[in-house]
This record gives sequence, C-alpha cells and structure tokens, in this order.
Amino acid sequence: MECCQCGTCCVAPDISSLGKPPGVRCRHLGEDQRCLEYGNRPEVCRGYRPDELCRRISAPTLEERVARYRALFDL
Ligand code: SF4
Ligand code: SF4
Repeated sequence: MECCQCGTCCVAPDISSLGKPPGVRCRHLGEDQRCLEYGNRPEVCRGYRPDELCRRISAPTLEERVARYRALFDL
C-alpha cells in the first residue's frame, strides 16, 4: 500500500520513545505532514509501513482520520 503522507500515524498513536501521548501531534511533524526529523526519527517510526489500516481510516481530514484510528484501537 502506498503512503499518502496523511500524518495520522504521527498523531493518533502513543509513541513512548518520543514521550508522545495518543492523539497529540508529534513535535517533529511539519505543517505539510512530513517528518522534520526524518533522518533522526526513532526506530518505531523507521519500522512503520503503510498497510490496510491506512485504508480503513481513510477520511477527508486529518482530524477525522485520527478519530477513526483512535476509535479502532480504543485510544
Ligand atoms: S497513516 Fe498510513 S498513509 Fe497516513 S502517513 Fe501513516 S503510513 Fe502514511
Ligand atoms: S518522529 Fe517523525 S515519523 Fe516519527 S512520529 Fe514524529 S513526525 Fe512522525
């Protein structure tokens, strides 16, 4: 599956290595939904790959995508 760079995976989940709670935008996520620390991103980000989940959370806005992601994982 192709990543559409929606930014949801940098907002919706908690990322302990970044001290990021669920639903909070990562401090490294740029306005254009691209990682500003791409070369220094943590392992968990490096290992993340787009999959069926990205299609399941499909929605017109980032806020809606994040809400769908959080609902799926009960976050
Ligand atoms: S949620 Fe999926 S499509 Fe959106 S940025 Fe992350 S990997 Fe890419
Ligand atoms: S470090 Fe970069 S890739 Fe990882 S969650 Fe933050 S913005 Fe996304």
